[in-house]
Amino acid sequence: MVSEKCLRKVILNSDVYTLCVQHALTTEKQEIMGLLVGEVDDIKCISKISACVTLHRSDKQPDRVEISPEQLCTASMYADQLSKKLDRPMRVLGWYHSHPHITVWPSHVDTRTQAVYQTMDPLFVGLIFSVFQNDSRSLNNLIQVTCFQAHQGASDLERTEVELVIQNSPFENYDLKGIADLPRILIQEEVECHDVKDNDTQDELANIHNDSFKTLALVHIVSKLSRPLCDDLEERLKTVNQRIRTLENLKKELQKR
Ligand SMILES: [Zn+2]
Repeated sequence: MVSEKCLRKVILNSDVYTLCVQHALTTEKQEIMGLLVGEVDDIKCISKISACVTLHRSDKQPDRVEISPEQLCTASMYADQLSKKLDRPMRVLGWYHSHPHITVWPSHVDTRTQAVYQTMDPLFVGLIFSVFQNDSRSLNNLIQVTCFQAHQGASDLERTEVELVIQNSPFENYDLKGIADLPRILIQEEVECHDVKDNDTQDELANIHNDSFKTLALVHIVSKLSRPLCDDLEERLKTVNQRIRTLENLKKELQKR
């Protein structure tokens, strides 16, 4: 079922890593997911992930992460747009999802899902981000990441770990857009989820109750995600401006000489 060709290494852009972790930290109750976009070296079997698409989830059951054909299609259209813009062959080359409060290792369902993707693209890769795991010694919130593929073992499907390198890279416009889109996607999920529930009931009191839960959820997104994101981006802007000034001064020095 799973092809012989396997991935040897994955190079992950640090901004995409940040975006995935930020996405994973948005909820500790459900698994979140998205698709990874970038370039792949088919000969050396190395993937270079430089963008990602955060997916809006229609099914919010715990432990259910499924990518619909429509979402895959949207992501590949996005990859095509990026290819044209950057003049480089970009495509969808993997998926990611989160494991809140559980270990980073892929479940049987994850390995099976991964194997299905590999039948379409042998170099397709899966990333899992384990978040909200408490480290009892340091009391810190532990974040772990694994990069894997599936292969047919002696009796069952098994996972193979793939080397993952997180590479510092210039801040790309499209990643900035991804970060900015994240709160919007989550708000859309909440609004859709609550509006469906609202239609089911005619009870005024229940409607008020549901509305207050919707408000609470939206406030949560703004305070836990949008505001910290803004603060983070402001800080980055300051750092970039500082760097520009330093470089300009250096340029002046060099011109004088
Ligand atoms: Zn999983």
